[in-house]
Amino acid sequence: MKAHDGMYIGGAWRPAVGTDTIAVLDPVSEQVIAHVPAGGAEDVDAAVAAARGALTAWAATPPAERAARIAALRDALAARVDEITATVTAELGAPPRFSRAVHAALPIAVAGSYAELAASYPFEEKIGNSVVHAEPVGVVGAITPWNYPLHQIVAKVAPALAAGCTIVLKPAEDTPLTAQLFAEAVHGAGVPAGVFNLVTGVGPVAGQALAEHPGVDLVSFTGSTAVGRRIGAAAGAAVKRVALELGGKSANVILPSADLARAVAAGVANVMGNSGQTCSAWTRMLVHTSRYDEAVALAAEAAATYADRIGPLVNAGQRTRVRGYIEKGVAQGARLVAGGPEAPRERGYFVSPTVFADVTPEMTIAQEEIFGPVVSVIRYEDEDDALRIANGTVYGLAGAVWAGDDAEAVAFARRMDTGQVDINGGRFNPLAPFGGYKQSGVGRELGAHGLAEYLQTKSLQF
Ligand code: NAD
Repeated sequence: MKAHDGMYIGGAWRPAVGTDTIAVLDPVSEQVIAHVPAGGAEDVDAAVAAARGALTAWAATPPAERAARIAALRDALAARVDEITATVTAELGAPPRFSRAVHAALPIAVAGSYAELAASYPFEEKIGNSVVHAEPVGVVGAITPWNYPLHQIVAKVAPALAAGCTIVLKPAEDTPLTAQLFAEAVHGAGVPAGVFNLVTGVGPVAGQALAEHPGVDLVSFTGSTAVGRRIGAAAGAAVKRVALELGGKSANVILPSADLARAVAAGVANVMGNSGQTCSAWTRMLVHTSRYDEAVALAAEAAATYADRIGPLVNAGQRTRVRGYIEKGVAQGARLVAGGPEAPRERGYFVSPTVFADVTPEMTIAQEEIFGPVVSVIRYEDEDDALRIANGTVYGLAGAVWAGDDAEAVAFARRMDTGQVDINGGRFNPLAPFGGYKQSGVGRELGAHGLAEYLQTKSLQF
């Protein structure tokens, strides 16, 4: 696979200071497909200096011109859909259809939404005898994971550009090729030199150097709660802004009046997409005791249909981790009705689509984020019991409620401690704020709420 052997800093590809590299693997073949440089603190310093140098001019660029650059970025990405699809498939392992329909299409839609928002957002507001200006926060350090490699980059970079911020991106070590492709698109879109910079590298070195850099004004992080907690602590100590998009353990609540077959099929599909590597996946399926056995049978049947079309997990470590959770589920007394810990293929980091029945809310598999294709079907006795179970984890990122009518589902959803709820199969909305309650994070991404994360206010009194 094509790879740059340098960092994109100050509008050009330049060699890394050190000689360390990261090997990029294809999770289907387990073969090395490319190497990229593993940047260190000096590379981060150079990137932050470039971002700082470009800040004043970019912040002063009229919003309409910033919008034009973001529109050009959207078009540059749209022109490379085939390349994005192939790259995400190569380094993440996602099946090509899913790569094209989700990994390529979603970020293009999000970039388009910020081209429009940059042009229409009210950066100035009159409040009584004051005029309040929304100004860019400054230099953004963006640290992204591998599970939606392009989407998570665009969900940070597009609003930061719209706000007038400049950016240093440190993408996940498993998916740096998608990030390099994105940097090429930024370059092609005519974004001025230094406004966007890319440093590839490993988390505890390049990521940490960026998160702790005194020249960074806002750290925007998506990834595990463990790393997010450290980044939040460092940002707090430095009194700097931080946005954290962390893990989830979302509930798919099927009320007794729901269309059970539809709710179960959608719930299983939601988890199997991207091989369960989705922070907002509805990994806990909550079913009333009167329909429990029927739901378990439907879920097992649905999961089996994914056996031949599910992609692998991203790497061997994740596969070991997910299999460990499946083994733990069995050890704690949950009943396997589909899949299991055994390797379904000789090669590749595959895990079988797995469904557990007889899962109790306290079990490890019902509490911790597994990040694999594993659904836990949990029984509830009445609505209060369902709510207690739905809200009974440290997370609160997403969820779903199914009922005979929307009003009944909405009444339940309003009592859930979570940032997003899909009502009776409601579609994903790239303009709706996305983010977590409780330990699922701090702040919101997407749409106008996502743009506001990159702004600070200045009030002028008259
Ligand atoms: P991670 O949190 O370790 O990595 C995410 C990003 O943070 C990567 O770019 C990584 O290089 C960087 N990073 C790692 N250590 C860092 C540090 N000390 N300072 C600064 N940056 C650092 O996540 P992971 O190892 O890729 O995945 C582990 C688990 O995290 C998964 O199993 C899953 O539960 C969760 N996860 C959640 C999301 C999400 O969208 N919420 C995404 C990916 C992973």
